[in-house]
Amino acid sequence: MTPIVRHVKVKSDASPYDGNLIYWSSRMGKHLEATKRVATLLKKQKGKCTHCGMYFRESDVLEIDHITPKRLGGRDEYKNLQILYRHCHDEKTTEDGLVVKYT
Ligand SMILES: [Zn+2]
Repeated sequence: MTPIVRHVKVKSDASPYDGNLIYWSSRMGKHLEATKRVATLLKKQKGKCTHCGMYFRESDVLEIDHITPKRLGGRDEYKNLQILYRHCHDEKTTEDGLVVKYT
């Protein structure tokens, strides 16, 4: 019996963000739609967190954020989505006064 692999292991040779969108996407996206979304957003952001401007690295935990929270009328579309570090997302979420996370 083959165990189901839920966590894609971080490869030690995956350096700071190197444009390997498939690699990043496979770490974040559980579904094809999510994977596509992550790849598109990472490309758009050139591998940087839009909150602090730092490049994502292999050990970082990333999350998808609604720039304008859905609660405030934000749409579920690319121009309203961004990828942030988890800690940046937490900060922004606090700033938004919002507890719900989009993952
Ligand atoms: Zn950040």
